[in-house]
Amino acid sequence: MRDFFAELEQRKQAGLYRTRRRISGPQKPVLTSNGKQLLSFCSNDYLGLANHPSSIEALRNALPETGLGGAASHLICGHHDAHHLLEERLAAFTSRSSALFFSTGYMANMGVISALAGRGDTIFSDRLNHASIIDGCVLSRAKVRRYAHGDVSTLATMLAETSGHKLVVTDGVFSMDGDVAPLVELSSVCREHGALLVVDDAHGFGVLGPHGQGSLAEFGLSEENVPILIGTLGKAAGTSGAFVAGPALLMDYLVQKARTYIYTTAMPPALALATCANLDLIEQGDERRTHLQSLIGRFRKEAVGLGYELMPSYTPIQPIMIGDNHVVLALSQALEERGLLVTAIRPPTVPEGEARLRVTFSADHSCGDLDYLMQALWECRYLLDSRSTVL
Ligand SMILES: *Cc1c(COP(=O)(O)O)cnc(C)c1O
Repeated sequence: MRDFFAELEQRKQAGLYRTRRRISGPQKPVLTSNGKQLLSFCSNDYLGLANHPSSIEALRNALPETGLGGAASHLICGHHDAHHLLEERLAAFTSRSSALFFSTGYMANMGVISALAGRGDTIFSDRLNHASIIDGCVLSRAKVRRYAHGDVSTLATMLAETSGHKLVVTDGVFSMDGDVAPLVELSSVCREHGALLVVDDAHGFGVLGPHGQGSLAEFGLSEENVPILIGTLGKAAGTSGAFVAGPALLMDYLVQKARTYIYTTAMPPALALATCANLDLIEQGDERRTHLQSLIGRFRKEAVGLGYELMPSYTPIQPIMIGDNHVVLALSQALEERGLLVTAIRPPTVPEGEARLRVTFSADHSCGDLDYLMQALWECRYLLDSRSTVL
């Protein structure tokens, strides 16, 4: 039998062992963990909607109307008015013909990719795409070709030398880097080579574009330019679930073929109604997004001033590149001793030698919260010099 114990020991020695932190109380910038208060800069609740009074009230009001459980899959008797209403709202909000609601983003990516490509087809995938996209590619049994991060000219060459059905899939905003995919260029090479483009906008939805419509809207890319948009609702939207939006024909096709849509229980319908309430907040959230951008701008200027290496990102994901697994853990630990929670991200979530602190911002952070982070980063600068000496 495989030596599971030895594998775990090996992980510990490599600085790759993972543990879970217990949180009490609601998600907000100040978290309670093991009875201690920590100011967090690692959540994906970019607009501060995960604990918003109006969505909590919407959920409470919905419960007597919808009950609690989803009870069945969407194709049996689980497809509730509430889910349908949310789909209509999402289609309208993203200016797409129709939308399909999935229980998680992971399942949306797995289902969409494996339904829209199969044996004999080719999928082209950015090297830094999210794990759920990678897994969807494997599940599809299509041939998978990965292209270097954001490298549209290599992709164009690959597309030109491939015949048959071609699917190109990319994150809109890359989850561990915070940069935005070259969406306009991707859309034009896909059109030129007859490839179907799928964009997973998990981190752009709610944050980028007019009224938070996402990264495609930011570049004026419509359904004609990018047929399939995937968005998740557990990040800026502050609840849970995901959606796919695009032409009605493709949504119908997914209802027939996406196994992660078909063979799973519908999410509690009350949550769909709470998400509708949060869509209103996203739409009216320009002030939140402006505040968020001002935090991001200030952080970038000051962190670079302190000698930290940032990445080319203007989104709320602002990683500090470290490199070494042990140094990133030491830095994260030193910040925690100062009452801050910033997670160390290590391989295999990021490539070998690219361990980083993933700093994320929320519109619920105050300017004082940012002052506190910068003060601690100033105090911890000495750890950067330990890169060659730690262990
Ligand atoms: C978080 C994330 C997902 C998964 O979404 P969940 O709803 O959390 O399952 C998919 N794609 C990307 C890029 C993500 O960051």
